[in-house]
Amino acid sequence: MPALVIVAERLIDGTGRDPIERAAVVIEHARITAAGARASLTIPTDAEVLEEDDLTLLPGFMDMHVHLAASGTNLVRILMTPPSLALLNSVPNCARTLAAGVTTVRDAGHTPVGVRLATEAGHFPGPRMQLAVSLLSQTGGHGDDLMPCGARVGLTTNVDVPHGVVDGVDEMRRKVREVLQAGADWIKLCTSGGVLSPGDLPEHAQFSIDEIRVAVEEAAAVGKRVMAHAMSPAGIRNALVAGVTSIEHGCLLDEEGIAMMKEKGAYLVPTLVAPGDVIDGAKVGGGGLPPEMIEKAERIGGLHRAAVSAAIAAGVRIAMGTDAAVGPHGKNLRELGQMVRCGMTPMEAIVAATSVAAELLRRPDLGSLEPGKLADVVAVSGDPLADIDSLADPQHIRLVIKNGVVAHDFRERAGAAQPSSASSPRAAS
Ligand SMILES: [Zn+2]
Repeated sequence: MPALVIVAERLIDGTGRDPIERAAVVIEHARITAAGARASLTIPTDAEVLEEDDLTLLPGFMDMHVHLAASGTNLVRILMTPPSLALLNSVPNCARTLAAGVTTVRDAGHTPVGVRLATEAGHFPGPRMQLAVSLLSQTGGHGDDLMPCGARVGLTTNVDVPHGVVDGVDEMRRKVREVLQAGADWIKLCTSGGVLSPGDLPEHAQFSIDEIRVAVEEAAAVGKRVMAHAMSPAGIRNALVAGVTSIEHGCLLDEEGIAMMKEKGAYLVPTLVAPGDVIDGAKVGGGGLPPEMIEKAERIGGLHRAAVSAAIAAGVRIAMGTDAAVGPHGKNLRELGQMVRCGMTPMEAIVAATSVAAELLRRPDLGSLEPGKLADVVAVSGDPLADIDSLADPQHIRLVIKNGVVAHDFRERAGAAQPSSASSPRAAS
């Protein structure tokens, strides 16, 4: 295979180093073999060269909190969706995510391992993934799908996804082993209440420290780690004491929690777009969400932004995540603008979505444009450091390269009026 070279106006390597003007990346055998100022690189003579005016090269983006097998929050729609269709909906969800420039995700629950295996087999396009498979919750907790009417509303496919309600230390030990057997790369626990659960509040703590600790222990026994949906200060503290690796959402994170996160070296995955996505989702398609849940999202939004702003100011390690499924798949990079509005520089937001995320996943072969790394490269039009919100518009994504292979080349649509919705034909291709 000849070398692939992408030539661009500028290159942001994902490490936080200054951008390089008039740059290029050279890819051979799925690896980056050179990246930097064009004048300094030797371009193989038989290379295929891709270029366009005013491009910026970046590492493939990494979203640390998605649910690829879930599609929206409309409870009525969910009730009317057979599990097989819910599973098949993950096909366009995967394709849209990759087309948005997201080449790697961590899936925070509901997605069975077959989705990962099918994308790896090339059955349909999608990002590289690490999966939590099930979302573990105490009885009546955030992940308990028993509704007040007595019906169980599986939020998505139940194919190959062990049911996640678990209580007590011994049951937790067994359940974590069951989820690991189902192919999980991460264990996902709900250590607080949440927005889209009928019987709890974000302010509630869930699971005892002992229950969380045994999950961390069982995961660690096979080299795996735990991510915690945690909104309340006590839920966050319990998770950190028990040794979880990342706090998801962190909406009510307080000073004590921030100090603990820094001390433990834990990661915060803010998902700032999620509360707004719940509210927006309730406005379309008849909504299908009870007012109690919308009220929770409205109440939590401002507190969430304040908590994340404080965490950023304090220097907590932050990796980008969106909770895509609550909002549309394929609009993941909206989160970067939200992170900047909470106090990050555009460069810091890009680093949170590339090299810090790679570090969270323990994938030192990903997350930056440097020789030796796997060639996940995204080219966007314009300069995202000057306009971070430009990344949120799928029209600005020009090339998506995963594992050294061009997954999407959108350069032909230059200047053409294109639908920007996630359901546009190109997003599904
Ligand atoms: Zn989630």
